[in-house]
Amino acid sequence: MLSFLDWGSSFRSKKVSSKDQNDNAGWPPSFPQSQLTSLLGTAPARERLRSLLLERQQLQLAIRLPESESVDDWIVLHCIDFLNLLNLLYGMVYVHACTPNTCPRMTAGPAYEFLWQRSDKRTMERLPASKYIELVLSWAEEELRRLMAGSANRKSCHKLAQRFHRIFAHLYHHHLADLLDMDAIAHLNTSYLHFYFFIKEFDLVGSKELEPMRALTECLLA
Ligand SMILES: [Zn+2]
Repeated sequence: MLSFLDWGSSFRSKKVSSKDQNDNAGWPPSFPQSQLTSLLGTAPARERLRSLLLERQQLQLAIRLPESESVDDWIVLHCIDFLNLLNLLYGMVYVHACTPNTCPRMTAGPAYEFLWQRSDKRTMERLPASKYIELVLSWAEEELRRLMAGSANRKSCHKLAQRFHRIFAHLYHHHLADLLDMDAIAHLNTSYLHFYFFIKEFDLVGSKELEPMRALTECLLA
């Protein structure tokens, strides 16, 4: 049986063109629209989204490296916290809201799709979001265990952060309404902004990867 690590550890995002969408007509049945983009379209909704956020300055202070701490250990400890947060947040939508029928692709709105790299490391695989996220969360747990034991390269924290960011992007673009219904947006916003300050402070995720969340970030930081 393959372990999650055997599947390979690299993910790539793909900007979806209209040609791609036409080429794949039929399956998945339709390319999902973004709930986030719809919500950000009106000023009252943006204001409401922004209001559901804990004190921003506290989040900025929370990620600063203490003088006595090694930067590598600090980053790993935060990645463990964010993995726990994502397990909690994604667990809220996993069973009923994020299924292979509702989310047949791992997307962030209609413009971004994230593909899974197969174990041969040469081919990419389109997966339902639930399968992709399940694989990432399991891989991350194993990778963090290896980092804590000193048997993994600390550079893998960049990959961890990149993949965590993709899960946040999927949650915002496709499960905002579900999380609103569950009264969980304050938790989602606070978790994401905490994560965003963290990845910016330690330069863990490139600007291209941040693009699907740019409008949201501008809204939350306004
Ligand atoms: Zn989903």
